[in-house]
Amino acid sequence: MRILLVEDDPMIGRSVETALTQDGYKVEWVRDGAAGKLALDTARDAYGLVLLDLGLPRKSGLDLLKEVRRAGSKVRVLVITARDAVADRVAGLDAGADDYLVKPFSLDELGARMRALLRRDIAREDNVLRNGDLALDPTSRTVTLGATFVDLSVREFALLAALLERPGTALSKAQLEEKLYGWGEEVESNAVEVHVHNLRKKLGATAIRTIRGVGYVIERA
Ligand code: CA
Repeated sequence: MRILLVEDDPMIGRSVETALTQDGYKVEWVRDGAAGKLALDTARDAYGLVLLDLGLPRKSGLDLLKEVRRAGSKVRVLVITARDAVADRVAGLDAGADDYLVKPFSLDELGARMRALLRRDIAREDNVLRNGDLALDPTSRTVTLGATFVDLSVREFALLAALLERPGTALSKAQLEEKLYGWGEEVESNAVEVHVHNLRKKLGATAIRTIRGVGYVIERA
């Protein structure tokens, strides 16, 4: 597995690189934020994990992380930082970090955190419905658009899940009503339209397409 290490401290960088290489990872070490951005822009899907320092020359780790998430990348990011202030950790997690590790840390601890993150990744990949920037996780009942969490009602969530199960396939209003409401439950005639309207407000006007006379579809991204 390829790991991108973005770290300007030569001592830390070298010890992490050595330890991970011994563990069988293929480590690419860059020493500033701009080089990290370049690596992720050119080969972002190639990395199983990014180890990201926050205090970096030429672009801070936080800015790098925000830009990468804004571009829609789901790559796992473990922030390694000397800054142990709560505000920095929160900012890092808000910007889309999956976990963080405060320096100084032991290499054993780093290895354990990495394995935990990668396991989480595998567990997740089974269920998550993805289409372009949009991801719906039925297990945690969360929806993300890029790096942003989107708040949905229970029925908006169910409707989106139904459409995301088969991107590119239109579902009729009746099919969607069936997914949204239980047997014998009173359904208002425009309920589906209302939920679709709300979803478009939250996800973007073009997120769900209406096919006149057929139903609704999420185009395959
Ligand atoms: Ca640093």
